[in-house]
Amino acid sequence: MLSRNSEVNDAAEAVRQMEDRFNGKYHYPWVFLNDEPFSEEFIQRTSQLTSGKTQYGVIPRDHWNQPDWIDEDKARAGRNKLMAQNIIYGGTSYRNMCRFNSGFFFRHELLKPYRWYWRVEPGVQYFCDMDYDPFMMMQEQNKVYGFTISLAEWEPTIPSLWQTVKDFTKEYPQYVAPNNSMGFLSNTGGDTYNLCHFWSNFEIADMNFWRSEAYTAFFEYLEKTGNFYYERWGDAPVHSIAASLFANKDQVHFFRDIGYRHSPFQRCPVGDHHTNGKCWCDPADSFDYRPNSCLKQWEETQAGAR
Ligand code: GDP
Ligand code: MN
Repeated sequence: MLSRNSEVNDAAEAVRQMEDRFNGKYHYPWVFLNDEPFSEEFIQRTSQLTSGKTQYGVIPRDHWNQPDWIDEDKARAGRNKLMAQNIIYGGTSYRNMCRFNSGFFFRHELLKPYRWYWRVEPGVQYFCDMDYDPFMMMQEQNKVYGFTISLAEWEPTIPSLWQTVKDFTKEYPQYVAPNNSMGFLSNTGGDTYNLCHFWSNFEIADMNFWRSEAYTAFFEYLEKTGNFYYERWGDAPVHSIAASLFANKDQVHFFRDIGYRHSPFQRCPVGDHHTNGKCWCDPADSFDYRPNSCLKQWEETQAGAR
């Protein structure tokens, strides 16, 4: 969990729910990261809730702050342009967070010993009991990336991302998986981006995928453009494009059985999944097939219809 000290109440709520729904049975360790040292209060309030060990880390400055080689005048112009369109999160710190989640969290000292992670954000809610270990499931089935909610990105935050992706795959075709999910990302065979992405505030994934030669080269290529700062490239589209292009489509997993809320969206399992998980969400209140959801697009891609 990446969190600020000021989010301690929301962090505690999310930890409590993860422990009640899942981790109380599995006792996995928690790693908390912050761009400044965690307060005594944050450490005490979260560690008293966990059934596994807890670790609290500070992010190195060069993994978080805007690099010196970024042209600050150009970055400011980019921020102002987005703010003029009333797009939320106009500031530099949100960009630091997106760049950190795109290219650095899996390099942190405290995460080095680990291969699998479950990203948890302050304030998220979990609606159903988990009675199996998703890390083991993913490892056994050779998955690399798991999601719950997918949706369309706000185009003004990533105007040049797709062209950069096209340039990268042209230069490094060897990294593109033979049975990839291009159909999830593009309705035009790769020419244009349909803005679909996995909502990265929930992720269960394999850090070896982010540490791979393909993703390392991809992140470096994106980083060089400066567009984590000149535009506002999110970690969600960056992770989603990589998982869709550098992994085969059967390596991406939709957790149909996990009920999850990150304001303002939630998804709720239906049928047997709802019953077996003892879910407390309304099965009719689910983002899955709402107009802005990309789940249908993902399912059609999986089925080979795209
Ligand atoms: P949203 O999910 O896109 O609405 O953005 P959030 O504000 O939830 O930020 C995403 C994640 O990054 C959450 O886990 C936040 O706690 C964390 N985060 C965002 N900005 C900062 C920051 O400046 N410092 C720290 N330590 N965490 C941050
Ligand atoms: Mn959030």
